[in-house]
Amino acid sequence: MKTYLVTGGAGFIGSNFIHFMLKKYDDIKIINLDKLTYAGNLENLKAVENKPNYTFVQADICDKEFINNLFKHYDIDYVVNFAAESHVDRSIIEPEIFAKTNILGTVTLLNAARNAWQDGDGFKEDKKFLQVSTDEVYGSLGKEGYFTEKTPLDPHSPYSSSKAAADLIVKAYYDTYKMPVNITRCSNNYGPYQFPEKLIPLMINNCLNKKPLPVYGDGMNIRDWLYVEDHCKAIDMVLHKGKMGEIYNIGGHNERTNIHIVKTIISYIHDNVDSTVDESLIRFVEDRKGHDRRYGIDPTKIKEELGWYPETKFEDGIIKTIKWYLENKEWMKNVTSGEYQRYYERMYANR
Ligand code: NAD
Repeated sequence: MKTYLVTGGAGFIGSNFIHFMLKKYDDIKIINLDKLTYAGNLENLKAVENKPNYTFVQADICDKEFINNLFKHYDIDYVVNFAAESHVDRSIIEPEIFAKTNILGTVTLLNAARNAWQDGDGFKEDKKFLQVSTDEVYGSLGKEGYFTEKTPLDPHSPYSSSKAAADLIVKAYYDTYKMPVNITRCSNNYGPYQFPEKLIPLMINNCLNKKPLPVYGDGMNIRDWLYVEDHCKAIDMVLHKGKMGEIYNIGGHNERTNIHIVKTIISYIHDNVDSTVDESLIRFVEDRKGHDRRYGIDPTKIKEELGWYPETKFEDGIIKTIKWYLENKEWMKNVTSGEYQRYYERMYANR
């Protein structure tokens, strides 16, 4: 039975990954290590919390002593590092915590894994450290072209810079020690359990509450959207079939402007929930500082080497996602109280 250490498993993608893996495999054990910041939510894992092969541990990936002891206590086979400060807007306000968690936290995990896995000059068999990264490390594209794994790193926000720095350290552990690692760089995810500071759940929540819909700049920034389960499937494939030391880009060629996303959500809610919700709720607000114009992933490598492909078309995935938030109003209510309100006021009060 293989043991997976999933860090940041109480967040959006991490919790989806845990559900995906526990559904797919009976013979694995998952340890979910999460600090439970504002973005971590154990409600995301209610359905699996009593499974004998699932354990939750509240801890900080920067806590060297705790992490080292964890590797002594458990025979960990795979680390999937989702734990991160993940919101670009917050990184513009508070860059330090991004450097700490995203860079130092990753080094702390790498070191503990290296110490536990080293075997003479090499490493024990069937071990892997997978760093979950983002297409944002590549910077911004013009109208043409896509990010490949060879595109030079050119991050612009404190968030993407901290993720790029972590990627380079993970690469250094391969180059220096030949530690078994992979890095995945995925485009924007959407789906259930996403904290409503991110575009899609923010817009759904505001539509349902008839609050203004803040759209940065002219709304024409383009993101490449992937349904979260397709990301989870890719991570599973890279863990088990990815070549050591390699980077894999993950994306489904679903480029959409932000304003298109917002109008799609308005239109669904107008037609199915509340006919008084319409485009008059849209407010174009001052653009995000250093806002990247376009992201677009070239997924050729993961498709050709590992046979990955996205199963969910954007048009289906977005409806599935809106319906999930409509069916889980209690979840939304719980995550949008307290700290969220203070954050929201700070971000949007004067806009
Ligand atoms: P999220 O913010 O929803 O979740 C992050 C989780 O990490 C939370 O549960 C939080 O409590 C935990 N965490 C934060 N600091 C921690 C620490 N110091 N120690 C332990 N746990 C800590 O983020 P997400 O959207 O699920 O993203 C997960 C990962 O995927 C991140 O590394 C992010 O960079 C990457 N990624 C996200 C996207 C996306 O569209 N959301 C796209 C590509 C890559």
